[in-house]
Amino acid sequence: MADTKPNLWHGIPREDIPWVPKVDEDACIGCQLCYITCGRAVYEMVDGVAVAVDPMNCAVGCATCGNICPTGAITFPPMDAVWKLERERQIFRTVKKEAARKHERDDMAKARADAQAAVEHVTTRARVEIAGEFGDKRFLVRLEELLGDRPYDIVNLRLEVPTVKGARAKAPAFMAFEVTSEAQEDIESFLNEVDALVRDASLVLVGTTRL
Ligand code: SF4
Ligand code: SF4
Repeated sequence: MADTKPNLWHGIPREDIPWVPKVDEDACIGCQLCYITCGRAVYEMVDGVAVAVDPMNCAVGCATCGNICPTGAITFPPMDAVWKLERERQIFRTVKKEAARKHERDDMAKARADAQAAVEHVTTRARVEIAGEFGDKRFLVRLEELLGDRPYDIVNLRLEVPTVKGARAKAPAFMAFEVTSEAQEDIESFLNEVDALVRDASLVLVGTTRL
């Protein structure tokens, strides 16, 4: 379906505003700088020369293509006509409303970005590595008690004991596991409790890696 939205500039029909680029065909060397620079698709290159095929899409007051054209082939009418229209059509009430809507959109975008950043900084999974002598310390039992029916879990648990005889002789072993949140919520405070438990059991916390 064709776009029937009126082309307005702060309430003024765009065709009432005499702000359009004019290309001097004889001065144009076909470098295409205007064509590639204009973000509003105003230009097409026709037979090696820039042509403003959609001049009403030119942003009122913009003169970028004219400023960068190496031969000065693009010109615009004086701004006086635009300033006169601004006064006569009293656009500033419209501008104020548009600015209020823009502030609202910007605030919402910022709030969304802040919320997204907050979610991204939440730790929901971490690997914990511990060393020490686990045998008499009932560490796993105490860890299970710490979990209780809270919304956390311990997964991928690995216990490395050097040898069976070593275990009997209470040689140091290595344990690694991952702490997760079943509800995908922050586990930082629970990690602190695990840390405290490790210290209380006289084990060594080798490291905690946020995943
Ligand atoms: S920038 Fe100037 S010279 Fe280059 S294509 Fe456009 S009008 Fe022509
Ligand atoms: S003045 Fe700006 S918007 Fe208008 S045609 Fe040139 S680059 Fe495009």
